[in-house]
Amino acid sequence: MKFRTARWAAVAAAAVLTVSACGDAGEEGGDAAAANEYEVVDSPELEGRAAELAEAGKIKIGVKFDQPGIGFKGATDDVPTGFDPEMGKIIAGQLGLEPDAIEWVEAISDNREPFLQQGTVDLVIASYSITDERRQIVGQAGPYYVTGQQLLVAADDDSIAGPDDLKGKKVCSVTGSTSIATVEEEYGADPAGFDTYSECVDQLTNGSVDAVTTDGAILLGYAAEDPDALKVVGEPFSEERYGIGYSADSPEMCEFLNGAIENAFENGDWKKAFDATLSEGGGEAGEPPAVDPCE
Ligand code: GLU
Repeated sequence: MKFRTARWAAVAAAAVLTVSACGDAGEEGGDAAAANEYEVVDSPELEGRAAELAEAGKIKIGVKFDQPGIGFKGATDDVPTGFDPEMGKIIAGQLGLEPDAIEWVEAISDNREPFLQQGTVDLVIASYSITDERRQIVGQAGPYYVTGQQLLVAADDDSIAGPDDLKGKKVCSVTGSTSIATVEEEYGADPAGFDTYSECVDQLTNGSVDAVTTDGAILLGYAAEDPDALKVVGEPFSEERYGIGYSADSPEMCEFLNGAIENAFENGDWKKAFDATLSEGGGEAGEPPAVDPCE
């Protein structure tokens, strides 16, 4: 998909300016080398894996690279932008780390659990809904945001107004997502599974499928990129609670991550991250959700 990136680029540029104004932008590398615009905890008291990460002074975070507003990295961008990378910087700050300590790794929906199981990344922050099945094999702290599944259709299509209109329609979503399972199992759609949502949006714009389905927060980003061609329709028909994934080998990370998320709710960093990213595509932050207790 060719993104009309002006809007999101403007948001990213504003973020860089904000960071530069803080006075610690590196000489090269733009915001990759800049000071964290969120709280950076001095000498944090940490245990287990969190203490190891702080000590190592680096962390690998898996985020999406093709979801405007959530996690996006264009070919010429140094670092990804969007709500999830902002959450990554917030978590890094709670470890006492600046953004240049973060190695951003592209995650797609289907490789999030393997990435955590194999240690490819330390955390997954990638529109990653908390589910019982996923919690059998990886840790998921949070939620830090709640959205719901919706539909993206062509702007001139009035035949689909909600999930009940999907029976027999060709609907694109991503393999390994909650979205594709819901639409097939509960609404009788004919699913087309791809690796990424941007491929699905291509399928929609070239007329190969009737709709794309996934979380409203993701679809709003695509619609904002191309409002003449695409629109989000209907009410949310699932609850998607975004969590931060970590390895099941480090269960103590749950307390650290929940604490870091709650700090961000309380100190304004969460709202600041939302306002700089998802709200630009029409999302509403609302009240922060309650995090699940750790086991
Ligand atoms: N939040 C849903 C999930 O985790 C859909 C979005 C995605 O695939 O990233 O499966």
